[in-house]
Amino acid sequence: MTVSLEFLGTGTSSGVPIIGCTCEVCTSPDPQDNRLRSSAIFHTRDKHILIDTSPDLRQQLLRNVPPRIDAVLYTHMHSDHTAGLDDLRPFNFRQEERIPAYLPENAMGDFQQRFGYTLEPIRHRHGTVPNLDIHVIDPAQPLNVAGIEVIPIPVLHGRLPILGYRIGPIAYLTDVYALPDESWPLLKGVEILVTTALKHDEIFGHMNLTQALAFIRQIGPSRAYLSHIGHELGLARDTEKLLPDNVQLAYDGLVIEA
Ligand SMILES: [Zn+2]
Ligand SMILES: [Zn+2]
Ligand SMILES: [Zn+2]
Repeated sequence: MTVSLEFLGTGTSSGVPIIGCTCEVCTSPDPQDNRLRSSAIFHTRDKHILIDTSPDLRQQLLRNVPPRIDAVLYTHMHSDHTAGLDDLRPFNFRQEERIPAYLPENAMGDFQQRFGYTLEPIRHRHGTVPNLDIHVIDPAQPLNVAGIEVIPIPVLHGRLPILGYRIGPIAYLTDVYALPDESWPLLKGVEILVTTALKHDEIFGHMNLTQALAFIRQIGPSRAYLSHIGHELGLARDTEKLLPDNVQLAYDGLVIEA
């Protein structure tokens, strides 16, 4: 099975540029310094599996419209990964069916609180609300998503347990602070690893660049890409010079194939 991953957004929660910031990254003319909020999409020959619905989802999917969305995998419920959820509606209209959405178990309470309107009976909606088929993930089992095997990878985002996802040789982890012991074997043999590097300074919740590079060395993929990037990381062209040969900064619109 050939699988590719398209980065829809590679920025941290405020995106880059940050509204009103005049730093050299936020005012850079380089398109690789322009980052929408984090979302990605796995493509196989005929399946398209979205990861997260960033607040910029509409703009991201207009850039390269997928023929359909077969499912959505949520990593966690923070707004920078969820608040574009209503922009799934055009795919409901086109596909004339519910879209399966997979949530980590601990995200269900937040989902009900924030997106409870999507769980109301369909007759009350008049097409104004996305029509989803919600599945709660058992992280101990691989998932069958539209006939594709997806391995959920437990990740710690600070203290919050969230999920990353692996399809075949590609693993996509976002908002990574640490990896619990049970997840290391799930990344064995991974060829392409996506992980996060928010900035140079240490912060709680996400890896900084030094931690991300050490993490990549420990996992040992052939290639790795850094995402969920903040303006504090510096210009893309300067940061690239600090990276080993097998590590690159992701950018919006980048497609990687295994
Ligand atoms: Zn800035
Ligand atoms: Zn988060
Ligand atoms: Zn985030």
